[in-house]
Amino acid sequence: MDKLRGLLPEIGADVLLVSPLPNIRYLCGFTGSAALLLVEASRSSLFTDSRYTLQAREEVSGARIHIAKHGLMGAVAEALRSHRKPVRVGYSPHGLTVAQKKLLDARSGTGIRWIPDRSIVEGLRAVKDADELERMRDAADLITRVFRDLVRMIRPKMSEIEVAAEIEYKIKRYGGSGPSFDTIVASGLRSAWPHARPTAKLLGKSQFIVLDHGAIIRGYCSDMTRTVCLGRATQKMRRIYAAVLEAQAAARNALRPGVRAEEVDGAARGVLKRFKLDGYFTHSTGHGLGLEVHEMPRLGKNERTIMREGMVVTIEPGVYISNLGGVRIEDEMVVTATGATTLTTAPREFLEL
Ligand code: ZN
Ligand code: ZN
Repeated sequence: MDKLRGLLPEIGADVLLVSPLPNIRYLCGFTGSAALLLVEASRSSLFTDSRYTLQAREEVSGARIHIAKHGLMGAVAEALRSHRKPVRVGYSPHGLTVAQKKLLDARSGTGIRWIPDRSIVEGLRAVKDADELERMRDAADLITRVFRDLVRMIRPKMSEIEVAAEIEYKIKRYGGSGPSFDTIVASGLRSAWPHARPTAKLLGKSQFIVLDHGAIIRGYCSDMTRTVCLGRATQKMRRIYAAVLEAQAAARNALRPGVRAEEVDGAARGVLKRFKLDGYFTHSTGHGLGLEVHEMPRLGKNERTIMREGMVVTIEPGVYISNLGGVRIEDEMVVTATGATTLTTAPREFLEL
């Protein structure tokens, strides 16, 4: 919260109206589903409703709690009325509706100058502290353990949904609070859909099966993908897998403090180009994660973000061929003082189960 206050003059705002719930949780600890946080130069106020009175008292630190009786926006407008001149309010354009802005304009008295915030809270969140890293390590260990169990369990004739159910059950059995996103189990031709939903399709032999899964522990996410095959794979499948694995290793080796995000992406793309497979790599190489499964920074083309110690990102190149299937290998890495270490440690070699 102190770091954030120091940044307010930088965006030319007197106050910051924080509406994305993960940002609110990050700044003051509140985990409820309805809240707004107003950060001012000398104080911060959390607005929530009466369902959350006790929870807010237990969770919130560094902000005064206001239980709003007639809507959160009305309560924020009331707080802004204490300013004697038009107040410059920083806000996230993707976190506030047109209707909410209109309501604040109408009720805030002296008027508001709206300052679109350039993701300053998200920028702070991108660099994790020791406590956050501990949670993320636990979440990564958990999903690694789930995957190790899974390879002993999956067999032909299980449906994709059944496999996804086992993954999500294990996540909770092993102490996670739930999956960090809808588990992806995509087999056969469907493995060429990078974000396929699991279906009733039964697992077949000699097909790629993409398993993309993650867990939440104490609020923090993990995210890992492995691609396996039931029975023997074809020569062509092995060649594709080897290319993706090499691309992933190149990107993992490129990750260190001081490097630009696009360079890490380029390392993976360069290897796939050598295998003439770069045309089948249709998404970016990775993304930050933490309280959310997708957050800053993004590792893609033209991304100039400089990697810093404490950033946690995924490295997940993939190749998706419509009449054959897809391969993705994803690990989560933390940038250290001198390089980077991998948090997800499940085997990466091609498993033909
Ligand atoms: Zn993933
Ligand atoms: Zn991912």
